[in-house]
Amino acid sequence: MSKHKNIPFFIPHSGCKNNCTFCSQTKITGFCLPYDDMLEEAKRLKATVEEALKYAGDSEMQIAFFGGSFTGIEPDRMELLLKTAFEYVKTGSVAGIRLSTRPDYISDDILTSLKKYGVTHIELGLQSTDDAVLEATERGHNREVCFTNAKKIVENGFYLAGQMMIGLPCSTLEKEIITAKDIVAMGATAVRIYPTVVFEGTKLYEQCLNGEYVPITNEEAVERSLACLKVFREADVEVLRIGLHSSEEMKNAPMGANHPAIGELVYGAEAYEKIVKAIGDGDTKGKVLKVYCDDKSVSIVSGVKACNKKRLTEEYGFKRIKIFKNGKDSQIKVLIEAEE
Ligand code: SF4
Repeated sequence: MSKHKNIPFFIPHSGCKNNCTFCSQTKITGFCLPYDDMLEEAKRLKATVEEALKYAGDSEMQIAFFGGSFTGIEPDRMELLLKTAFEYVKTGSVAGIRLSTRPDYISDDILTSLKKYGVTHIELGLQSTDDAVLEATERGHNREVCFTNAKKIVENGFYLAGQMMIGLPCSTLEKEIITAKDIVAMGATAVRIYPTVVFEGTKLYEQCLNGEYVPITNEEAVERSLACLKVFREADVEVLRIGLHSSEEMKNAPMGANHPAIGELVYGAEAYEKIVKAIGDGDTKGKVLKVYCDDKSVSIVSGVKACNKKRLTEEYGFKRIKIFKNGKDSQIKVLIEAEE
């Protein structure tokens, strides 16, 4: 099977008239792209796609409009970008188009237009399905809008991906598990989980300073993201990403789940639980633990800075721990031996 690859094209904060308390994107209020700049942007899109296609190999390519609320940008601009992208869908050089947007920027007319231009995947920034959380973060829409428009997306034949956040104001582990279950119930085939990071200049940052909001720690973020990850694993919903991409801004984020490898920490914690389950209650002191995992998961199983290995040594008294690649077998298996 050929690999899937996105050709990302960023539309920074364009299209969003909102002001969520946690959002760090630069505001461009009243901004409307002049026609010449729209043409320039479409040219840039073409150049980006053509450059990416040179290195596509046997990968299945998809043009991905990320970074803002795509369906909130000016209709002319949206149409020009979609038309430009659709040329590559028509010739078969890309398999489809994906975009991200807000739940309240979806309507029947918008979906008709997206379908006409070959959009296949829609990512909805839901963040939470809890009304108190949506209100506290000034999302500008309620739970009902999340459900109504997610349903429209699925009923119109698009793939739905949900984006949710961990540790927002008024949120709890229980509310996050409900949000994860809601995303499954909406019919999403994929999801991104973003533990809350507090950026300077946001309202959330002010709320931290004046004590209205207590930022989530990295440890809490791992525990709560893992609980949601389990919901998605159980329902066979693909987890596309946990945690924001690293950036200068992320490096300088003063509070919240700002660990640069938060996703790896979550996957590492998941692997740790599986290893512990496989070890069972037998005698482990002074023995050798051999862990077998799929080829790509060795560093996840070992944990960030080998934290899983250290923890297993401390908690179970193993003399040595060795991790072996086991091809494509995604099951974690263990063998406990007296000596090597
Ligand atoms: S909807 Fe997205 S882009 Fe708009 S303010 Fe909220 S987080 Fe930022």
